[in-house]
This record gives sequence, structure tokens and C-alpha cells, in this order.
Amino acid sequence: MIDWIAFDADDTLWKNEEYYLEGRDRFLKILLKYGLNAADIEKFDRFEVENIQYFGYGVMSFVLSMIEIGIEITEGKIQSADIQKLISLAKEMLSQEVEVFEGVTTLLETLSANFPLMLITKGDLLHQQRKFAASGLAQYFRAIEVVSDKSSAVYDGILNRYTIEPTRFLMIGNSLRSDILPVLELGGWALHLSDHPTWSHEDDPSEKNDQERYLGVKGISQILDKLVETGLLSQ
Ligand SMILES: [Mg+2]
Repeated sequence: MIDWIAFDADDTLWKNEEYYLEGRDRFLKILLKYGLNAADIEKFDRFEVENIQYFGYGVMSFVLSMIEIGIEITEGKIQSADIQKLISLAKEMLSQEVEVFEGVTTLLETLSANFPLMLITKGDLLHQQRKFAASGLAQYFRAIEVVSDKSSAVYDGILNRYTIEPTRFLMIGNSLRSDILPVLELGGWALHLSDHPTWSHEDDPSEKNDQERYLGVKGISQILDKLVETGLLSQ
């Protein structure tokens, strides 16, 4: 029934969002001395989303947004020592240790014995490749695709390249916007991890969880049971 299973990486297989939340807190603390207010904080969140079209997803985009908004909020008065702190923060985030979620290795062991697995992740190419290598999970995957966005056109391109029929493809991930909705749109299967942390931009209010090929679980430990229950994996 399924030929390939693909996984998202950030906040699906390993921790990610909490490092961004920590980074955001550190940024706001740096700006506090310049008289930061609530509207400025809102502005930062908006800038970050608007900048995706220029810088893509990932730490570099995050830090460039912080520098840009820092200059704007302080009307150019932000000190170079503070900009230096933001650049150091980026380097720290880029060299952060990879923390794989509990249960992931066992799950991948089981699934890779039954299906070819693919990793489909978006963000900075170098950072994603480094995290993949450091995760110790590479042995379970047949293919890795680092993409700049996860639209249905991007998924369609990947499925064509690997000659995978959409109805025989399952994507597993934490983001409705990036991992679930575009795959359902193509006619594929999608399994959403609802309890994994997700950046608010990645949550889509038009959640289509009434579709037959939409599967929802809270976390990693429930995936195997869900696949067996749906008949996608035989016991
Ligand atoms: Mg993710």
C-alpha cells in the first residue's frame, strides 16, 4: 500500500524549535536596554516571516532578521558589540548538539526494515547536512532531500524524480503547513505529530484532518500502532 516513507527532520526527529525560542529570548534581552516594547516584539515576529522570501528558512535567516530589526528598533543606535553577540548566537545555534527524540532510533530501525526511508528537510543546506550526519540516523535513510521550501510543487518534483506514486507515499512530520497539507493535496498519506513543538508560522488553521489519508498521533511512540491500525504496516 505504501512504497516510501519520508520524514521531516527538525522537531520531528530531533529538537529544534526550543533553540529558536532561547535565541529569541536572548535577542530580546539584548534589546531591552534600548527601551524595547511589546509592539517591537510583534514587529520582530512579522519580519522573520517576511524575510523567508529573501533568506529562506534557518538560523542564518533568523539572525539576519534579528540584526535588521535591531537596527530598525534602535534607529541605528544598536552597538556593534550587540551585533557581535547576535552573530555569536548564530554560530552557537549552528554548532548546537543534535538531540534526537526518545524512541526515534527504534522506530527507524523497524520502519527501515519494511520501507525505504527518505528525509525531507528544509533550511540551510550545510546546517541540515551537518545535523543529519551528527544525528547518527543516516544509516536508516535511503535518501535525503534538503529543500528551500515544502510546497506541493516541491514534493511533486521529488516524487517524480524517485518515480513514487503519491498514493503510495507517506510523509511524517510536525508541521501542518510544510509536512501535511501539501502532501495531502497531491493525494499522498500524511502523519502529523501534534504534540511536537512547532513554530507558529508552521501551523495552518485550515487543517484538513477529515481526509482519509490524514493520520494524527501525539508523538513518536504512537506511530507504529497507528500504521498497523490503518493497514499501512503489517504486524
Ligand atoms: Mg519540522
